[in-house]
Amino acid sequence: MSRYDCVQCGACCCNLPANRAEGFIDYVEVDARAPLLRRPELVRRLVVYNEDGAAHLRLHPDGRCLALRGRVGQRVRCTIYSDRPQACRKVEAGSALCRRYRSAHGLRA
Ligand code: SF4
Ligand code: SF4
Repeated sequence: MSRYDCVQCGACCCNLPANRAEGFIDYVEVDARAPLLRRPELVRRLVVYNEDGAAHLRLHPDGRCLALRGRVGQRVRCTIYSDRPQACRKVEAGSALCRRYRSAHGLRA
């Protein structure tokens, strides 16, 4: 098993308090080609538009993506995995960004 197992993590599916404190509240942008945007029921539930009209994933007040199920750092599942936006596909397990998110959640980096 990989040292960085996303199914036992989910850290990068949550906007960090430090980001939010700096005003970065939009977090994951939903690109125009995201399969998610072709599913109205998912758009209603999981997408928000900022004041510039850009689509982003809707977050729980604690910063966690609403599409994430399970407990971060134990067992998680993305409920829209095949429909998720491009931005979600960009964080590579083991990358510097991945390790930063893991570390912020108290997970081994
Ligand atoms: S922080 Fe890294 S290990 Fe955790 S879910 Fe994201 S890419 Fe996977
Ligand atoms: S859509 Fe899925 S992969 Fe993307 S942030 Fe939400 S839970 Fe994570």
